[in-house]
This record gives sequence, structure tokens and C-alpha cells, in this order.
Amino acid sequence: MMNESSVKQNKPDIAKQLLVRNDSSLSITFIGTGSAFTKKFYQNNALVVKGADHVLIDCGTRTPEALAMLGLSVTDVHNYLITHSHADHIGGLEEVMLLNRYVARQKPTMIAPQAYRRFLWKHSLKGGASYNERVDGKFLRFDDLWNVIDTVPVAGADRELCEARLGSIKFAMFRTKHIPDSAPSWRSSSPSYGVMIDDRILFTSDTRYDPELLEFLDDRYAIEAIFHDCQLYTGGVHASLDELAGLPAAIKAKTRLMHFGDAVENHVEKAAAQGFKGFVRQGEPYIFP
Ligand SMILES: [Zn+2]
Ligand SMILES: [Zn+2]
Repeated sequence: MMNESSVKQNKPDIAKQLLVRNDSSLSITFIGTGSAFTKKFYQNNALVVKGADHVLIDCGTRTPEALAMLGLSVTDVHNYLITHSHADHIGGLEEVMLLNRYVARQKPTMIAPQAYRRFLWKHSLKGGASYNERVDGKFLRFDDLWNVIDTVPVAGADRELCEARLGSIKFAMFRTKHIPDSAPSWRSSSPSYGVMIDDRILFTSDTRYDPELLEFLDDRYAIEAIFHDCQLYTGGVHASLDELAGLPAAIKAKTRLMHFGDAVENHVEKAAAQGFKGFVRQGEPYIFP
């Protein structure tokens, strides 16, 4: 597992290599693996890299610090895909916006559906970002701070589904059932998305236990690997290890668990016995040739 003494030695040039691959393989490196309030594993966000293209999925409150441990600034990361508005997924975006605008003097790019971008700006980002400056008499707007890659809706799917491309990487975003815990379906849940990467790797982001979601995706894609939200106890707005144990063995055999609490070491054996591939490890690239 990544530890402070090893990652602090990352030189800037080595660090920037985390953002590029020299072959056509796809890699996913977790900058953090923890749940919202973990004190050991930062927060659950993953750097997706293929060739010269990179995208960071989510940027939580502690993500800028986690990137710094790897020798990277948020201004080195140019593309962000955002799954939902909890602070462990978006709390680092104010630093992304302000350091890019006032220090690096460049615009980062966001991948997210337009309706969700509006929601994110209005309810979360605007307060800290808009009022720093007036342009032509108006406070800053989302478009002053971000380039965007719009998603294209996929018609005829059982669940809200849309797609976007960043260079050579394809992302399909689908709605998940995350909050509130009383919502009976994804339709009545607040906007939250999971991601299929290149039609082959599933990153659920935050979701309650939702076997129908996995059926929907398994029917539609040839899924090679799954990274699934996993809470270490049952209850609330995340899938728990015990609930996930009810998934088909073939699904569990390709599933690595993420977004876990600080007590994860106590659950490693149980997860293995239940048939999972294990818990994700921070800073270790998962490579898909
Ligand atoms: Zn979360
Ligand atoms: Zn969440």
C-alpha cells in the first residue's frame, strides 16, 4: 500500500508520468480509496489514463492533498469527470477552479451531463468561486472557470445513460441510487452517476446496493472488471459488504471494493471468503491491456 515516505520522494517529472501511458493500455490508479470521513485512505477518486489522455474521476476535499503526496498539483490534472455532489467527490473543485484561474491561468475541463453541471454550480460550487471577480460587470459563471465535454444521451436504455469521449477514452455515465436512502429507485434519487470506461471497466461511484444496476450493465456491456462502492457495515446510502455478498459469484469474482472505512483491514479475509477480488489499493495502477 502507498505510504507517505515512498510517495513523498516522487519527483515532479516522475509524477507527471502518472498522467501518460506509452502504450495503448488503459490504467486506473486510485488517488484515494476511502469513504467520506476516512482518516487513512483519502477519498475515493481514480485517475484514468490511456496514451496521452487522462481524466480524474471525482475530486474530494482531501484529493488535492492526496495528489500532492504523489507530486502532482490539481493544475497538472486537466480533466475531471464528476459523479455527484458529496464533498468527498467535489470538495477539491474550488482549489481546482481558483488555482487554475489565478495561478496556472488555464481552464480545466469537466465531463458531466449539462443538467447536473447546472445543479453542481448552483448548489455547491458557485458560493466559493463566483464572487472572486467580475467580468464585464458580472460575477464569474461556470463557463468562465471550466471547459466542458457534453454528454450525449443514449436512447432506449432502461436507465438514464449518456456517453462522452475524452480523446481515446470513452465514458458512459448512468444514474445510480445513492441519496436519499428512502428513494425507492434511481429515478427518485438525487443526481448521482456511475461510469463505464471504454465499455469494459465499471466504476460504480457511490451507490446503495442495487442488483438491478448490475443486471442492466451486465446485459449491455462485456464487463471485464468492476470497482464497487463498499461500506463495511449495513445501513444508509452505500452498498455494504454483506449486501454485496448476495451478488452472483461471476460478478463478485471480477469485483474490487472501494470507498471503504478505516477499519478495512478487519474485513479483508471476509471479502476474500465471499468471493471478491479484494479491496482496491491506493496509488497502485490497475492496468487493462
Ligand atoms: Zn462518497
Ligand atoms: Zn456520495
